[in-house]
Amino acid sequence: MVPEERKVFDNGSHQNILLEDFGHGEMVQANVHLIVDSGEGMILDPGGHKVFKHLLAEIGGLIGVDNLRYIFLSHQDPDIVAAINGWLMTTKATAIAPVLWIRFIPHFGVDRLVVNRIKGIGDEGTIVKLGRSELYIIPAHFMHAPGNFQVYDPVSKTLYSGDLGASLGQDYVYVENFDEHVQYMEGFHKRYIPSNKILRAWVKMIRQLDIETIAPQHGAIMKGRDIVNRFFDWLEDLPCGIDLMENIYRIPSSYFEG
Ligand code: FE
Repeated sequence: MVPEERKVFDNGSHQNILLEDFGHGEMVQANVHLIVDSGEGMILDPGGHKVFKHLLAEIGGLIGVDNLRYIFLSHQDPDIVAAINGWLMTTKATAIAPVLWIRFIPHFGVDRLVVNRIKGIGDEGTIVKLGRSELYIIPAHFMHAPGNFQVYDPVSKTLYSGDLGASLGQDYVYVENFDEHVQYMEGFHKRYIPSNKILRAWVKMIRQLDIETIAPQHGAIMKGRDIVNRFFDWLEDLPCGIDLMENIYRIPSSYFEG
């Protein structure tokens, strides 16, 4: 049974589930999401080796391993891709990833037997059919990776935003107070997102969608149109990346102390 808190949406035939967080220790906290429609599943950004076997068991209990149709890889980072070989070896799923990273991902150790089941998606994105629903693979390049996608699910009106909207250090699953939540997002966005210009382009595109929930890959979920709009407004005005980094280019003058 999935605890209520981890059911992001459920209408009987379509479910959006935040899988249990099996990460701990030195690993950055990461959310792994599962979208299910008519018994078929897509797992999003499934993470590394330490969480793989636990997640696989959970998928088995929820929908059956053979009903996992897609593994969505938003970009090439290890907290997303590291265990992809295990996922491909133990499921029948197709992995989808930005075409930009298709020749890099095999460096994580992908067997020749399964490597062709990782399909590259071009910069323009695509629409994927899952069960009786359609999922939009939305361009989100430079959010933060130069080749990066998000998933929009029109049934639950959820945007899976990947690293955008990531928060670190809070102790709640759902954002209640946006103003108080900003402190947990600010550092990450200022350093990992390359520029305000790209944020504005993204916000302009994403405001065309009907979004009730933003589910990032790290930290708390933003639910409700008011909080979602506050998030877009905040991004539009956020200086980040190269807007702030010009002064970092100085020759180092202090010694490494291991
Ligand atoms: Fe990342």
